[in-house]
Amino acid sequence: MPLFAEVIVDVPTMQTDQPFTYIVPDELLDVIEVGMRVEVPFGDGNRHIQGFVTALSQTSTYEEKLKPIIRMLDLSPVLNQELLALADYMKETTYAFKITCLQTMLPSVMKAEYQKKIVLKDPSHPAKQQYFLESNEIDWQEAEEMGILRQLKKLREENIVELRYVVKKKNKVKKIRYVNSLLTPRNAAGIYQEIDNRAARQKQLVELLENNAHQPTAFFTKQGISTAVLKQGEKKGWLSFEEVEAYRDPHQGKVFNKTSALSLNNEQQQAVDKILAAEKKAKDEVFLLEGITGSGKTEIYLQSISTVLAAGKTAIMLVPEIALTPQMVERFKSRLGDAVAVLHSGLSQGERYDEWRKIERGEAQVVVGARSAIFAPLENIGIIIVDEEHESSYKQDEAPRYHARDLAIWRGKYHHCPVVLGSATPSLESRARAQKDIYHLLLLSKRADPAANLPSIEIVDLKKEYERKNMSNFSKELQTKIADRLEKKEQSVLMLNRRGYSSFVMCRDCGYVLPCPNCDISLTLHMDTKTMRCHYCGHEEGIPKHCPECGSNKIRYYGTGTQKVQEELQELFPSARILRMDVDTTRRKGAHERILQKFGAQEADILLGTQMIAKGLDYPNITLVGVLNADTALNLPDFRSNERTFQLLTQVAGRAGRAEKAGEVIIQSFNPDHHAIVLAQKQDYETFYKQEMFLRHQSGYSPYYFTVKITCSHQEEQVAAKKMFQIAQEVKTALSSDSIILGPTPASIARVKNRYQYQMIIKYKKEPALSQMLKKILDNSQKDQRKSLYVAIDNEPVNFI
Ligand code: ADP
Ligand code: ZN
Ligand code: ZN
Repeated sequence: MPLFAEVIVDVPTMQTDQPFTYIVPDELLDVIEVGMRVEVPFGDGNRHIQGFVTALSQTSTYEEKLKPIIRMLDLSPVLNQELLALADYMKETTYAFKITCLQTMLPSVMKAEYQKKIVLKDPSHPAKQQYFLESNEIDWQEAEEMGILRQLKKLREENIVELRYVVKKKNKVKKIRYVNSLLTPRNAAGIYQEIDNRAARQKQLVELLENNAHQPTAFFTKQGISTAVLKQGEKKGWLSFEEVEAYRDPHQGKVFNKTSALSLNNEQQQAVDKILAAEKKAKDEVFLLEGITGSGKTEIYLQSISTVLAAGKTAIMLVPEIALTPQMVERFKSRLGDAVAVLHSGLSQGERYDEWRKIERGEAQVVVGARSAIFAPLENIGIIIVDEEHESSYKQDEAPRYHARDLAIWRGKYHHCPVVLGSATPSLESRARAQKDIYHLLLLSKRADPAANLPSIEIVDLKKEYERKNMSNFSKELQTKIADRLEKKEQSVLMLNRRGYSSFVMCRDCGYVLPCPNCDISLTLHMDTKTMRCHYCGHEEGIPKHCPECGSNKIRYYGTGTQKVQEELQELFPSARILRMDVDTTRRKGAHERILQKFGAQEADILLGTQMIAKGLDYPNITLVGVLNADTALNLPDFRSNERTFQLLTQVAGRAGRAEKAGEVIIQSFNPDHHAIVLAQKQDYETFYKQEMFLRHQSGYSPYYFTVKITCSHQEEQVAAKKMFQIAQEVKTALSSDSIILGPTPASIARVKNRYQYQMIIKYKKEPALSQMLKKILDNSQKDQRKSLYVAIDNEPVNFI
């Protein structure tokens, strides 16, 4: 009986965003499975591309025209039924192509790369001897290196060779070479006698083989036996080689001291009880764990996961990338041991792939990771935790624009298990859902360590500081406190808020600011590389000595970079040991870890950094936190500006006084009366929630309204604008009168990578037909793609600028 496979092909366009049917060839009949990757012919047949099998069936409506699958790319499915269904949900809610959704779920090494090949059609042709020799195909790159592309091109015109694209496999499994001994003590003795006395190494090898049945080659080379001697041993029949699959373990060699569960306080115990009760009853309940910084949320996660593991189930723990510090990893590994796999962007592609395989084979039962860890191929999940659930990094800002929190809830439903959203400062959306009993609210109101207290927080008015003619980045109060900590040998953390803020170069004579040639944004100065760089397109150029506009040499650096602040700080406190953490000092792999380790080991007095330092630091000797500029982000044209400012200040303040030593926080601000700052000072999330909800209600924003952003982009401003207005017209006539449309307007950065961006935002409460309409808009925009006019839809955008 014939078998047909439905395949989603690796061509992310509107026309191909549907399954294509292929014939399963005889040799694959028994082995092919849904969820495997395959190589299939596509288009004119010379192109071989990767695809995912999403269904198999015995019948097909268009049997005659079908082509067969070329080969399988996997030995077992890489996506199970659950993840295939999750891809459908993702496609439905993010308006992305199915293939993009499927690929997003896998480690990036599994994304297909294509190889261009030139294939000889007639092997009896004289060209075979000339260019091809033993095989009938040649790599494009190889042909290029050999300098025969021109000749081959001619042959192609004569239809003697053809061009073919094939899938290149990248996911290489790492192998280690082992030596198997073929000697038994008895024959070893005999062999030993026969060896020439001068061949000391051979004698040594025989001795080793006698006692070591199976060792990696490194074991022998360490003892002075070269590979050449091992090869001789193989020839003489003393040993055989074996390739054994190995994992690249990023934590190899690290010893994690086992920790045991702390005895929980009342609030913690109640939270754990409720979460585990839901797990036991297989209820897909969502909990919002709202607990101040240091209230012991992590301890709740650890104990809940332990219980789930003991019941033979698995767990996912999501952490924002930036909070996935070695300290965090250590807390999980030292409590839960080898069951933990860690996925984060600090790993190499190979390491990520190996961690993924460990999970896929069931060798790891707990996955700790950033956003994409939500796709971990675990079976039988018993709990999913999203720590710092308010973090905007959980939303991916390119297609598919999914929010990991939504996918966590979807997987919780699938597995009938609880989902825990934890935060000291929950997103207003989640807190509002808890208000309506859609989520179950769990409150932790005090610090878990009985010796620790919330730090005292003081606001310094920078306007007054300026009136006093103090133009420094450090107010008098802050300077005094830093000096005091240096004296007491306690540590300080200083944060320079870089959101909405950057350092640029401006001409003092004419005011000219160096712009990016491709984007409507000024270039940012990077002192480490001594260049000006665009943060959107990566354009880079030298620092100008003269103003390109008026020629003046009074072109100066403005804004406050962390490096400049560090210099100022060092001048104020010449003997202080300062560590700096920002994009410049953490670019290299592992740099972030090294800085934190140094600070933890008391090798510095002050840690100065950007928002990066606000999370995950848990060191007992930090007794002072200073925020140099609390409000640079307050004036951004984004309705979440207040929320983000409040969250950041609360987070960073939470770094102080986490153990016995009392903590102090200084917040420097130009808006000391702003509710986001005043309430952060009071560490009063609940009041902030109420006030901010009132503002959102008044201005009609989330969580009172849902939002969708539509963007059109093109090289010519006119074209992008015209399309955007066309779509707006279409949308307006279809929507109910309760819905609100903002725009169309140029995006706040009107041009990125030489493309003009126009956008509009739809705010709505109930529009059952909206999703269908948006799909139609995308469908219709298909023909515009050829004119490189793009339409993008962002459901529930987290960034408005
Ligand atoms: P959060 O995740 O809420 O910021 P943590 O779980 O990091 O809080 O806890 C803060 C500190 O309190 C940690 O040093 C932790 O070891 C300690 N801690 C947590 N729970 C308890 C407890 N029940 N008893 C004593 N100390 C605790
Ligand atoms: Zn000038
Ligand atoms: Zn640019």
